[in-house]
Amino acid sequence: MHSSKLQFEVEGYVFDFSNVCQFLKDKRVMLEAPQGWVRLLDKIAVWLKSKCGVKVCYLRLDPAFGGCDVGYAYAKQLGIDVIVHVGHTAYPLCPQTKFKGVEVYYVPGYYVENIEVHVDEIIRCVGDSKKVAIAYVVQHKQLVDKLMQMLGGKLVLAEQILGCWYGALPQIYGQIDKLIVVGGGLFHALGLCLAVGDCSKILVFDPFDNRRHCVDVCEQYQKVLMKRLWLLEELRSKKLKRVAILVGLKTCQFRREVVESVKRMLEISNVDYDLYINVEMSREKLLNMEPWKYDAIVVTSCPRLAIDDYGDMRPPLLTPGELKYVLGFVKRYVFPW
Ligand code: SF4
Repeated sequence: MHSSKLQFEVEGYVFDFSNVCQFLKDKRVMLEAPQGWVRLLDKIAVWLKSKCGVKVCYLRLDPAFGGCDVGYAYAKQLGIDVIVHVGHTAYPLCPQTKFKGVEVYYVPGYYVENIEVHVDEIIRCVGDSKKVAIAYVVQHKQLVDKLMQMLGGKLVLAEQILGCWYGALPQIYGQIDKLIVVGGGLFHALGLCLAVGDCSKILVFDPFDNRRHCVDVCEQYQKVLMKRLWLLEELRSKKLKRVAILVGLKTCQFRREVVESVKRMLEISNVDYDLYINVEMSREKLLNMEPWKYDAIVVTSCPRLAIDDYGDMRPPLLTPGELKYVLGFVKRYVFPW
């Protein structure tokens, strides 16, 4: 079969199954995807059955929030041979592709429309900067591949990023003049600002939003940082007495070492703690624990839960890095761990 026949195309995206199809013949497959793409799974299933000979296809209705959220537990229970995880690449902090006998294949969707136009615009906003880095979400990899060719010797690093992972960008940040974040919305750019502790060289290019073509994010970053620091300073001044630790059991969000280090820091600081386990977080679940018994709740699974999704909860939810700051193990704000 010609490889171009093994690409599923929809709504300006290409899902390339060329290296996956051969492993799916006569297999029992589970398909999973992030929130916005669960609605495409039935179409992908029909396509995989006809093009790759998949035998049975289960569609995971619970969204997969990242490459960190691979449904091994579902697959195991169903007796599935293969998971096809659509929309992300493997999570760099947990890169195995086989778990308890179940294979997983990652098929990101690449956005392929308007690439030439967007590359030209980004080149214009690079301007006369001499050393540039690119951070991108995987959907825009094809745009970035093209951009890399155009930037030539100016490019110091192009790195795919996640909401909690920024590769070597924090290390090389001091060597560059400009860092362009190619992705939708401000979620990834704000995480990157928190991770590098600065916004002055960072510009966002959102291919889906004309108002965000090369915009600076300092105002939004300062807002987030001030809010976090205000909460953390309040906790530092009153001193923690009792804390809840949330241990997430999604396969790649369970971070044994982070949990152990959080426990150790609390023990050294004479802070009592309770250990809660859960798979999916919700406000109802948090209320069930009577959160007011605690001074803070430390989230060891997805650090963006503390900052974005539950940023308004009281007592505050903290990332492990924020706990370090509150307890005085570090002198400045660190994100995420
Ligand atoms: S930010 Fe959260 S959902 Fe995204 S990759 Fe990290 S842990 Fe997973």
